[in-house]
Amino acid sequence: MRVILLAFTPDAEAVVALAARLCYSSRPLSATRAGLGGEDVAVMIGKLRDMGHMSPFEHASFTFGIEGISRVTLAQLTRHRLATYSVRSMRYVRGDRNGCVAPPSVRRNQRALALYQKHAASAAACFGELLALGVPREDARYCLPLATRTDLVVTMNARELLWVARLRMCRRAQWEIRWLVSRMVGLARRAAPLLFDGAGPSCLSAGACREGAMSCGRPRVLVAAARRRGRQLPAAVAWRRAARGPGVAGT
Ligand SMILES: Cc1cc2nc3c(=O)[nH]c(=O)nc-3n(C[C@H](O)[C@H](O)[C@H](O)COP(=O)(O)OP(=O)(O)OC[C@H]3O[C@@H](n4cnc5c(N)ncnc54)[C@H](O)[C@@H]3O)c2cc1C
Repeated sequence: MRVILLAFTPDAEAVVALAARLCYSSRPLSATRAGLGGEDVAVMIGKLRDMGHMSPFEHASFTFGIEGISRVTLAQLTRHRLATYSVRSMRYVRGDRNGCVAPPSVRRNQRALALYQKHAASAAACFGELLALGVPREDARYCLPLATRTDLVVTMNARELLWVARLRMCRRAQWEIRWLVSRMVGLARRAAPLLFDGAGPSCLSAGACREGAMSCGRPRVLVAAARRRGRQLPAAVAWRRAARGPGVAGT
């Protein structure tokens, strides 16, 4: 898997802060903009996050190029509706030539890996034979595995990406989407650190786990430990720890 940040809103943090300041200012837009300094931007973005006034975050958008994720993860990602997706067509492009993603649990086990690869090769051979028999590509693709790799371009605004991080950087999310979203957030965070300060699963970004009885327990312990020491976990540390996880390590 490869994730590239292709483009993002220039001066994303200043645009978000200006949009927010405008809501609470009686001055004309140009005067509001002129009076907005670097420190004001940081303060304003922090206030928005604390208040839950998240709509100004929608003015900043981030476009990612993603290479080599499975169709499994594509299906999970595209459930997030407030984003724009362009995915390589399997009607117009031969899907059997992209290969398959092998999960870490399969790669760790030599016998499982051999079986998995045999099945992938057999599906690719079946695809080729169906084409040779005159079956159109759009129908032949039905025999390809969910593990088949694909590439896409996705654009999300900062509010949606923060939301997706909350759900998909959680240890309860599957390893591949957790890894993907962690990378997307990492890249966006480098481009606009103030917007993504504290981004991560809900135990870290919202301070509480929402998984109830299915909680993994570990992040909650992390937050509780920080609280016991009487301080907030530094956002950057919290984020890095959240991005790690059993499924991410070694992949
Ligand atoms: C751990 C995990 C397990 C999952 N398991 C399953 C499963 O077994 N089966 C399954 O089908 N799905 C499953 N999902 C997917 C899940 O049901 C959601 O489809 C997915 O997480 C997208 O979430 P969302 O709707 O909050 O996000 P988005 O589509 O990204 O939307 C963001 C937010 O915008 C608002 N919004 C968007 N569209 C609307 C709308 N039409 N009306 C009102 N408000 C809207 C909501 O507040 C929403 O939370 C799982 C997700 C996770 C994280």
